[in-house]
Amino acid sequence: LENILEIKDLRVSFETYAGEVQAVRGVNLELKKGEALAIVGESGSGKSVTSKSIMRLIPSPPGKFKSGEILFEGNDLLKLSEKSMQKMRGSEISMIFQDPMTSLNPTMTVGKQIMEGLKKHQNMNKHDAAQRAVELLELVGIPNPEDRIKQYPHQFSGGMRQRVVIAIALACNPKVLIADEPTTALDVTIQAQILDLMKDLQKKTNTSIILITHDLGVVANMAQRVAVMYGGKIVETGNVDEIFYSPKHPYTWGLLSSMPKLDSKSDELMAIPGTPPDLSNPPKGCPFAARCPHAMKVCTEHMPEYTELSETQKTACWLLDERAPKVEPPETIGV
Ligand code: SF4
Ligand code: MG
Repeated sequence: LENILEIKDLRVSFETYAGEVQAVRGVNLELKKGEALAIVGESGSGKSVTSKSIMRLIPSPPGKFKSGEILFEGNDLLKLSEKSMQKMRGSEISMIFQDPMTSLNPTMTVGKQIMEGLKKHQNMNKHDAAQRAVELLELVGIPNPEDRIKQYPHQFSGGMRQRVVIAIALACNPKVLIADEPTTALDVTIQAQILDLMKDLQKKTNTSIILITHDLGVVANMAQRVAVMYGGKIVETGNVDEIFYSPKHPYTWGLLSSMPKLDSKSDELMAIPGTPPDLSNPPKGCPFAARCPHAMKVCTEHMPEYTELSETQKTACWLLDERAPKVEPPETIGV
C-alpha cells in the first residue's frame, strides 16, 4: 500500500517558564492509503501534538517545529504557506476533536455548518450544498436529516452531535481524517456506536484515519495498525494482532493490563504506577525507565534502538537485546 502521509524525524518543542518542553522527540510514522492507524498513549505522550502538527495547529509561540518533515502525498506540509495550509484543512485533511460542543457553533444550524465547508472548498451553490448536507447526515446515521439540518447543536444529544462533527469533517471527502479522542466525552454505549460508525465510514469512503486515544480498548476493532507513544517517542508499533497478541514493550504490556472492560465506567489508566517523564528535562535513556518493572542499568543511560520484529512490528526496548534477561509479559494480558 502506498503512503498518503509520512512523518520523518518530527521534533516539536514548547517554550515554557520551566524551559523548553520537548513534546515530540523524533517521531517517524507512516499512514497508508485507506488504513486506520491508532496512536495510543497517556496524556503528555506527544500523541496530540503529533496529530496537531499534521494540521499545523501548533500555536507558535510557544510551539516550535525543531526538525522533521510531514509529507502529504509527497509534499512537506511544514513548508506550506499558512494560506495553502488553510486550503488543506477540511478539504484534504480533517480533524475531529474530543468535545463536539467546542467544535460546533451553537448559534448556527447544523445544516449551515456543514454547508460552510462545501461552499468554501468545493464552490458548491446553496442548493447542492444543502442536498449534500442531508446526504451527509444520512451517512452518519442521523434520522430525519431533512428536518435535522434546520436544527441547532443543542437540539442534538452528545452522540448525535459527534455524528454531526464527523459529517462536517467528511463533507469535502478528505483523504486523511484525524480523530483525537473522538469518543472520550461520550458514555460507553455511545462510544461504541461512534467507533462502529467511523469504522463503517472508513470502509465506505476509503479515508485514511489516524485515531488518537489513551485507551487501547477502543482501537481493537477499529484500527489496522497501532503506534504506542511514550515520553514524546514511539516506543512500539505494529499491526493490531502484533500489539494485542505479541506485544514486546513493557509500556504496551501496562496499557493492555489496564484496558477497561466494556461494562466498566472507568476510563482512567490506573494500572501503571508512576508519572510520565518531565519533558523539559527528558531522560537520556529509555523514557519509560522510571516506571518500568524490568528496567536495567543500561535503560537509564542509553536510549534503546528499534528492533524490527517483523515487517510491521518495531519495538524500542533493551529487553530485546540478546544480552538481556528473558522476561515474559504479565499474565494479566493473556498473551
Ligand atoms: Fe523497560 Fe528498559 Fe525496555 Fe525501557 S528499555 S521499557 S526501561 S526494559
Ligand atoms: Mg490529547
